[in-house]
Amino acid sequence: MNARTWPAADSRPMARPVAESLRDARPVSYWLDQPGAPASRPALCGPATADLAVVGGGFTGLWTALLAKERDPARDVLLLEGRRVGWAASGRNGGFCSASLTHGLANGLDRFGAEMPTLDRLGRQNLAEMAGTVARYSIDCAFERTGELVVATADWQLPGLAAAAEAARRLGGDPVLLDAAAVRAEIDSPTYVGGLWDRYGCAMVDPARLAWGLRQACLDAGVRIHEHSPVTRLSRADGGLRLTTPHGSVHAAQVVLGTGAFPPSLLRRLKVWLVPVYDYVLMTEPLSAGQLASIGWRRRQGAADTGNQFHYYRLTADNRILWGGYDAIYYNGGLITAAQDHRAATFTLLASQFFETFPQLAGLRFSHAWGGVIDTCARFCAFYGTAHGGRLAYAAGYTGLGVGASRFAGNVMLDLLGGQPTERTELAMVRSKPVPFPPEPARSAVIQLTRASLARADRNQGRRDLWLRTLDRLGLGFDS
Ligand SMILES: Cc1cc2nc3c(=O)[nH]c(=O)nc-3n(C[C@H](O)[C@H](O)[C@H](O)COP(=O)(O)OP(=O)(O)OC[C@H]3O[C@@H](n4cnc5c(N)ncnc54)[C@H](O)[C@@H]3O)c2cc1C
Repeated sequence: MNARTWPAADSRPMARPVAESLRDARPVSYWLDQPGAPASRPALCGPATADLAVVGGGFTGLWTALLAKERDPARDVLLLEGRRVGWAASGRNGGFCSASLTHGLANGLDRFGAEMPTLDRLGRQNLAEMAGTVARYSIDCAFERTGELVVATADWQLPGLAAAAEAARRLGGDPVLLDAAAVRAEIDSPTYVGGLWDRYGCAMVDPARLAWGLRQACLDAGVRIHEHSPVTRLSRADGGLRLTTPHGSVHAAQVVLGTGAFPPSLLRRLKVWLVPVYDYVLMTEPLSAGQLASIGWRRRQGAADTGNQFHYYRLTADNRILWGGYDAIYYNGGLITAAQDHRAATFTLLASQFFETFPQLAGLRFSHAWGGVIDTCARFCAFYGTAHGGRLAYAAGYTGLGVGASRFAGNVMLDLLGGQPTERTELAMVRSKPVPFPPEPARSAVIQLTRASLARADRNQGRRDLWLRTLDRLGLGFDS
């Protein structure tokens, strides 16, 4: 039996070449480091009013603002971003734009079984509408409907892939189960023992260019965007809500919060459901034609391995490989600081695992290495709600799969603010909340214990220990 695990990088003979491959990596998101970043919008100064004020200029806020204008061009929409549009998770991610609203089918079936056919349909519709938006506004974001290939790197993972294929077929999907030779004919790694190819449920996107394009579409539709405008206070005022920034304030009839993993000081109740988890990514230099030929990958699928600790990887438009994931790091106390965007031990581990996966690419170098913070919740997919008598709507908790789901969340929040039931607002997924995390210091203890147990399960043929089985029963989990 193949019992492959990912050993610690420093136990490997490759340590020197690995260090060399990382030597010149720039410590910033490759996507945000490209030419074409738009000029900054001015900060909010003085008092303003709006029908709808959106807080947060990531995908959640941008999609909500654009959808609000598409629904009603006369609605006066203003967006406040604390720093730059797209600077956070939305400009740092892998760019896997999945149809899944539930962080994958298995998680959706576990939590919302009876609803899964509806969620699957709504997710596919959401992805199709996203593709339509990208085309309609001519957003230059390398949107490629490549699908996704999930690969097994150990025999114990194969039954899970077969079960996933069967579940997808029951929902009308058409997944392709691949044996070792067939998966290696798609992407050639000696570590692969099987794979599952979902040809339709995922697109690859350049996330920063998508954020910049949505920002421009918002501006063209008449949304007023203010960057460098952190909202420091939210209060009820004159039948609406007042948002205060360092140099101005907005009185809005309605407010949307799309503030991601950042401390939810504007609505403290979010704190019990969210933990900030760091995820790290490497980007290679562009592959030569020969290097690309050595791994195949002609259909350019997004790829991910299975296991609790998994990598995701993909090609860019200029044939670099983005390689991320595996180490999901929670800093005790839920710290979010710029220093945590870099973690040398994780970069070394990721690089080492990259060359183990693709030994034919020995000598390739990484041009960028960065991290970003993920809004993790215990059910691994977004939760939604309202506050302040229905004047405020929020969505968060995508747990690392929000590129596509954030657009759906925009529609949910606008429906909730509309006050009339819709198919979306009646979903159990929308009406329910994740299991809360305990307060600190128990929170840190629970999360670190869970991380250790998940890593142990991967080393132990996927077998879940008593702790993980207990968490499964409670619906409480930890992921990136
Ligand atoms: C390394 C990494 C890889 C990932 N890979 C993928 C992937 O391949 N596919 C996928 O689907 N998802 C992925 N994700 C997750 C995905 O990026 C997020 O789910 C998505 O971008 C969330 O968007 P958001 O708008 O909710 O949050 P963010 O992009 O974090 O935006 C929130 C914004 O709110 C602003 N803000 C916060 N508080 C305030 C305030 N008080 N006032 C004003 N502004 C405020 C912040 O400045 C920030 O710009 C990844 C995430 C990371 C970090």
